[in-house]
Amino acid sequence: MDYKKTFDVIIIGGGHAGTEAALAAARMGSSTLLLTHNIDTLGQMSCNPAIGGIGKSHLVKEIDALGGAMALATDRAGIQFRVLNSRKGPAVRATRAQADRVLYKAAIRETLENQQNLQIFQQSVDDLILEGEQVRGVITQMGLRFYAPAVVLTAGTFLGGKIHIGLENHSGGRAGDPPSIALADRLRELPLRVERLKTGTPPRIDARSVNFDGLAEQWGDNPAPIMSYMGKAEDKPEQTCCWITHTNSRTHDIIMAGLDRSPLYTGVIDGVGPRYCPSVEDKVKRFADKDSHQVFIEPEGLTTHELYPNGISTSLPFDVQLDLVHSIKGFEQAHITRPGYAIEYDFFNPQDLHYSLETKHIKGLFFAGQINGTTGYEEAGAQGLLAGSNAALLAQGKAPWHPRRDEAYLGVLVDDLITLGTQEPYRMFTSRAEYRLLLREDNADARLTEQGRKIGLVDDARWQHFCEKQEAIAQEEQRLKSTWVQAGSAEATQLAPKLKAPLSREYSLMDLLRRPELEYGDIAELPYPKADISSEVSEQVQISAKYAGYIERQMGDIEKLRQNENTLIPEDFPYDSVEGLSNEVKQKLKESLPGTLAKASRIPGVTPAAVSLLLVYLKKHG
Ligand code: FAD
Repeated sequence: MDYKKTFDVIIIGGGHAGTEAALAAARMGSSTLLLTHNIDTLGQMSCNPAIGGIGKSHLVKEIDALGGAMALATDRAGIQFRVLNSRKGPAVRATRAQADRVLYKAAIRETLENQQNLQIFQQSVDDLILEGEQVRGVITQMGLRFYAPAVVLTAGTFLGGKIHIGLENHSGGRAGDPPSIALADRLRELPLRVERLKTGTPPRIDARSVNFDGLAEQWGDNPAPIMSYMGKAEDKPEQTCCWITHTNSRTHDIIMAGLDRSPLYTGVIDGVGPRYCPSVEDKVKRFADKDSHQVFIEPEGLTTHELYPNGISTSLPFDVQLDLVHSIKGFEQAHITRPGYAIEYDFFNPQDLHYSLETKHIKGLFFAGQINGTTGYEEAGAQGLLAGSNAALLAQGKAPWHPRRDEAYLGVLVDDLITLGTQEPYRMFTSRAEYRLLLREDNADARLTEQGRKIGLVDDARWQHFCEKQEAIAQEEQRLKSTWVQAGSAEATQLAPKLKAPLSREYSLMDLLRRPELEYGDIAELPYPKADISSEVSEQVQISAKYAGYIERQMGDIEKLRQNENTLIPEDFPYDSVEGLSNEVKQKLKESLPGTLAKASRIPGVTPAAVSLLLVYLKKHG
């Protein structure tokens, strides 16, 4: 049966990619349909109930700067917030929130249900409607046909999903949810390169059976940082604590003795797992010299006793899981509420995608999230927003968009996936970005909100808030540049104890703020008319003052690369003759033979400095 209404955009899947995709397309005015297995699992966190972290919070803030839902939902659901790397420079600072699973899902669902132009329908999609190389719509399990010129597939770990616990395995999308078999089979008939990856999750534990005596408590920051540029401190629920415990040599012995029944070590699983989120059996095997690994005990929410023991993801048989859990301090009597497991699933080679995340082979079909070889809610959400907005642009007959590597981690993510592909679940790190100082989590709005506004992703309230903030930053910078402190004045005397040497001449407040020994707070205390600005504004003023030199240098590097990015590198280029290149970089270049400077710059580990050396050599010998 044909559904009467034709949509502009259809999204398949209501996970992190699908919900951001649906919201983005609908915000842009496209009539959008979100089709998902189960409305009650919209925005469900399949694994760790946490959002953000290093590299990942940068993506969350970028989604937010473009009007997406993840950061606001995190502010409404977060039960513990921390700024990581707070003592390091602003480029690598990151916010991480422990989220209440139920509150997070509720916040996402409420956002979806109140989004204009968006309809939600609960059904599994089993097939695509294709006309030659153009997608026309989808067919659900009960034979209902929905039509749209653009379809975004965000099926997560569900395509051909196979769940492993020990040597037992069964089909599943994640624990408690059905897999997508019919759709996976259909996609395998299309000219797409399909491979398998795997990921895993730890057993969950009932807090009432845990002995917390002697376990180290870990509280969040006070005041709790806010994830969204539009977030408010009062939106946050009650804050709670986590605990830390450790595995020990007995735990490791139990694991080693169980490896003969591990699907990972007996060859039952052949999909590659996330290197940076290894299973506990992987950690024990790979780091055999370590006799202990940290386990963070994280509450799953305010209204449940379930705990997430972060660090003991496993697919060992259940009897081994029980023994290994009981060997850990505090867990001696622990009741497991859900077993840990691994899941293998289909993903598609992202090199078969355009930058808009449209597939190269089927017009109008977009892919986002875990199916592109990534792992993590944040990576999925960011791709969803990009794919959903491009699907809307396609339906509106407009040109696609994507941010560049020097504008956003989203740009880095998509560029890495499309140019390099991935052989293992790809997660974001700050080290993947060449221009870290420009791509800070604190300035995602300055980098992206205007772009988002232009294509219709950013609503009036966010736009007004953004413009007021930018105006306040500009005014405060102007005030600091035009206010002067004379040597020997009362203001100079007030600052003297903080300065390395007394002022010998007049300086503007901006000059003084650039000094490493002074903070914005020191300047603000001087007896000048006070600027009535928020801490976000003063933070921006301080960062751009203190890092002005580095930021200018990075902008110069970007400009230089842009001017020379099409410069060809011959296949027989003598990388070994370029002075200053490390052996590691030479090796990477010789293996990849990048062809152009732009491609060389995208190889992980090939720094802007290395690219400059290549450019100098090419100019000299070209
Ligand atoms: P998902 O969140 O999986 O959402 C997919 C959605 O599509 C679901 O709503 C599903 O019902 C729907 N769907 C699928 N097929 C169809 C269909 N045919 N018709 C209609 N609806 C459909 N990430 C980490 O960063 N670290 C980890 O340690 C980690 N461990 C994980 C462990 C497990 C066991 C699992 C399952 C995931 C883990 N993840 C981990 C990954 C994380 O859950 C994903 O990266 C993230 O959820 C991906 O978001 P997504 O939107 O792409 O897919």
